[in-house]
Amino acid sequence: MALVYNARMTGTKPTVHDLHSHSTASDGSLAPAELVRRAAEAGIDVLALTDHDTTDGLAEAEAAARRMGLVLVPGVEISVTWRKGTVHILGLGIDRKSPVLQSGLQRLQAWRAWRAEEIGRRLEKAGIPDALAGARRHARGRIVGRTHFARFLVESGRCKDMKTVFKRYLVKNRPGHVPGQWASLEEAVHWIREAGGQAVIAHPARYGFTATRLRELIGEFMECGGAGLEVVSGSHDSRDISHMARVASRHGLLASAGSDYHGPESPYIQLGRLPPLPGDCIPIWSAWNAPIETKEASATAS
Ligand code: AMP
Ligand code: MN
Ligand code: MN
Ligand code: MN
Repeated sequence: MALVYNARMTGTKPTVHDLHSHSTASDGSLAPAELVRRAAEAGIDVLALTDHDTTDGLAEAEAAARRMGLVLVPGVEISVTWRKGTVHILGLGIDRKSPVLQSGLQRLQAWRAWRAEEIGRRLEKAGIPDALAGARRHARGRIVGRTHFARFLVESGRCKDMKTVFKRYLVKNRPGHVPGQWASLEEAVHWIREAGGQAVIAHPARYGFTATRLRELIGEFMECGGAGLEVVSGSHDSRDISHMARVASRHGLLASAGSDYHGPESPYIQLGRLPPLPGDCIPIWSAWNAPIETKEASATAS
């Protein structure tokens, strides 16, 4: 991926990367332009917008990034069904106009729309009427996800916070749970690569996999052409980070770092506060540092 880094990246200050974030195009609470503004304010130089199963926020984010002088990495977070569970695969540096990627995402969006109705029906049976309408209000015409249902249930006073909603209603063996029918791992990596991007396993420590399971996931992922592991994540503690750094090095995976920021109301994750990647990692962006094409450089080269 050839990113053109701007002048801000040529100084002595280390470049600050955040390669995982959400906007109102999926379940984040900030519009893409506002997210980019706050990221720039927080000192982030390179930001990836990675909404769930959609690239709809990218055009607005790219325009805002140009105005604010930060580098916007076009991204996506694809939902994958793997061994009956859900795994998230990030695509970084994608061409959002790729027909293969877009037709894949359209399928997932159609499934999301049906799933939202099904969650609504199931919650209704569990004695919670109007949840679909409430979730849709929070999604404001965009794709409805579980987060929108969770916001509605908190707002209506059924649960004290989002975490409680998920635990009581939206996960396996709970009344509003609908088993996923997302992309296969192979499809997700294929779509990302077709779009010229790099595939990264998002927040690997969050799945609660045994060492064997994680090894199997990584094995299949690399066989399909997957490139990286998200070592630093807003949902990883310092032990997860060292563990995943070792896993990445052992498998020869590039290391990524992202906050998974969803907006200012999530108090634990702030923009621009990510810990650094451990020293033995190869940052996924190390190959992005394409030299800036200047007139002199091309004149010398020819
Ligand atoms: P979905 O892709 O619609 O199934 O929703 C997944 C999203 O729900 C994740 O990306 C998180 O933003 C959110 N989520 C999942 N689990 C929790 C939790 N325990 N507390 C708060 N948000 C959660
Ligand atoms: Mn989310
Ligand atoms: Mn995720
Ligand atoms: Mn995410």
